[in-house]
Amino acid sequence: MILRRFVMLVVCTFILCASVMAQAPANPSAANPSSANPSPANPSAANAMPSVVVVPPAAQPSANFDPQAATEAYLAQIPPAAKARSDAYFEGGYWLILWDFLYGIVVVLILLHFRWSSGMRDRAEKMTRFKPLQTIIYWLQYLIVTSILGFPIGVYEGYFRERQYGLATQTFGPWMGDQLKGLGVSAVLGAIIAVLLFGVVRKLERSWHIWASIVTLLFLIFVVLIAPIYIVPIFNKVHRLDNPKVTVPIISMARANSIPVNDVYEIDASRQTTRMSANVSGFGQTMRITLNDNLLRRGSLEEIQAVMGHEMGHYVLNHIPKDIEFFLIVIVAGFAFLRWSLEWSLGKWGEKWGIRGIGDTAVLPLVVLILSIFFFVLTPILNTHIRTAEREADMYGLNASRQPDGFAQAAIHLGEYRKMSPGPVEEWIFFDHPSGRNRILAAMKWKGENLKLFEGGAK
Ligand SMILES: [Zn+2]
Repeated sequence: MILRRFVMLVVCTFILCASVMAQAPANPSAANPSSANPSPANPSAANAMPSVVVVPPAAQPSANFDPQAATEAYLAQIPPAAKARSDAYFEGGYWLILWDFLYGIVVVLILLHFRWSSGMRDRAEKMTRFKPLQTIIYWLQYLIVTSILGFPIGVYEGYFRERQYGLATQTFGPWMGDQLKGLGVSAVLGAIIAVLLFGVVRKLERSWHIWASIVTLLFLIFVVLIAPIYIVPIFNKVHRLDNPKVTVPIISMARANSIPVNDVYEIDASRQTTRMSANVSGFGQTMRITLNDNLLRRGSLEEIQAVMGHEMGHYVLNHIPKDIEFFLIVIVAGFAFLRWSLEWSLGKWGEKWGIRGIGDTAVLPLVVLILSIFFFVLTPILNTHIRTAEREADMYGLNASRQPDGFAQAAIHLGEYRKMSPGPVEEWIFFDHPSGRNRILAAMKWKGENLKLFEGGAK
């Protein structure tokens, strides 16, 4: 579970998700492409942030414009019930990190202690003498057993809890269908990387941790490259967006920032969730900008432009290549820790668990256990790395889009599933994006320094 979460984290980072929630024009006179079409994906009233966020008086341009006061005025538009709900959802997520970690550890300890893992290896060896095929058969058994054991926490976290907070749009059947599709994707991708890594470990006994790091990184890059074309469409429909009112300003902004984009894509994320988001994915020629339909339905043009400016920031600031460098360091450190920990723990318990050595597939639960600990401890560092890049993209987006009020609204609507005003330590540990409060404050500081752009009703 933790490993899958890590892969998701890496993929998300490479794809640079900028989840943003929005609903209304930044200024009441602006056109809202969504106002005529009530969205079926709107969250329940109790959960929703204000449907119309207006620029509050304190955030209007004036001689005594104060970014702090403007920020407070924006935050004051959030009804206390909506704030309480979003805080509860997000803070519950902190505990889930811990419960997921502990639950995952119990699952792998069951596999080791009761020798289920060595049993699965024996079964694979009986079925074939061909090593890579043994690895695949072992992996499929491992995946099925851990998915069944992990189902209770998975269904609570992914289904019941999302519904409880009004964020899910699926009933149980379609949700379960997506889970099974995800299982299929894990079966294929996991089998490929397992065969590659066990091959490396068996052939290069002394330096396997170095080569395994390189193989893992290349594999992650491969997954990121194929994901938009081969994986995303398994779950959602993506199509070219054909609404000039939305696309013309976006593509113009892209041209102004030397971004080679001719098309903007839309994804039907409302199939699963009410969350709004957008992302930039791919490298070079495969680079593309995708908006989700929740953002298109509920977002004002100002908001969409603010979000797109942020996404373009990720591209221009080379965040994808920088993430690859960062994860190379993390992965090398992870494999070094893994090697040391495996040698130590196999010396102690290897025989008891029926594991013959590092090249034995039965070692997999132990590998997952060790890497779970590694990534659990690293949570604040990974979050801080991502959050730092997000803050850079925020600043770039403000400069590129010149929509501080659109950006503030986006931050408020994002508050439907993120705590707006955490403490500094809380933000450092748990936030992979700047908090809503800090994002609004940054936007209002930017506005304060650029008041000329907004005077006389000019945008
Ligand atoms: Zn982002």
